[in-house]
Amino acid sequence: MKIEHIRVRHAIDYSPHHHAYINPYNGCPMDCPFCYWLDDPEWEGRLQVRDNIVEMLRQELVQWDAKERIYVGSICDPFCNEEIHAGLTRQCLELLKEHKMPVLLTTSATNRIIRDYLSLLIEMREQLTIVVELARPPFMKAMKSGEHHPGIENANLLHQNGIRTWTTYAPIIPGVSDLEGVLNVLDEEIPVYVEELLCKEGTTQAERVKKWVKQDYPEAYVTVREMIETQDYTDYNALMKKYERNERILNFPFRI
Ligand code: SF4
Repeated sequence: MKIEHIRVRHAIDYSPHHHAYINPYNGCPMDCPFCYWLDDPEWEGRLQVRDNIVEMLRQELVQWDAKERIYVGSICDPFCNEEIHAGLTRQCLELLKEHKMPVLLTTSATNRIIRDYLSLLIEMREQLTIVVELARPPFMKAMKSGEHHPGIENANLLHQNGIRTWTTYAPIIPGVSDLEGVLNVLDEEIPVYVEELLCKEGTTQAERVKKWVKQDYPEAYVTVREMIETQDYTDYNALMKKYERNERILNFPFRI
């Protein structure tokens, strides 16, 4: 992955839903085949480090309404490996802590950063929600072979330390996803947001998902291919019926 260092004109952006976002990085090395950002032809193969984001955020927070929630991480994982060297997310969080801003941070939580930053995250627990995204192909596969899932371990660690922790396990793909396995090892007080596979035939996501499933879950390939081609979610609905009364299983959007 090519690492580029850039400067930005402002730190806070707005999503189409008018949510205020900070992204210390732009890009992600996780290569999820269902990633929405695959629509962007410039998405893959590079990660931009926004060198001056802390400086810009410091200036913008002077005039910011402290009640407005800031989302951290929409086009990056704020706790990606590059953060170990650059430390931009940590510095942004320290500023947000100082300004008592409500924060919702989304991460795959697969490296040591959660542990390295635990004391800061604990200090922020009154203002912080962390969403740990668990449907990450390498770790889904590892779980299937009986190995641990670092995202689940880190979500449990955050929750045990009093930090409001939610998870996502999305998309749920029949024959591929192991929701039951996740629920068995995830702390029972942590909610799990789920959704179906939202990708249409002819898109990059459809092509990548089919390739991934054929290679890693060949027994599920025909079902997944047909689901994409027909957009018929009967198998997904049948799978999720089991959880319809389970209060831990939630649907998007997040209930903030
Ligand atoms: S972790 Fe998120 S942003 Fe990164 S590739 Fe996967 S879906 Fe895309």
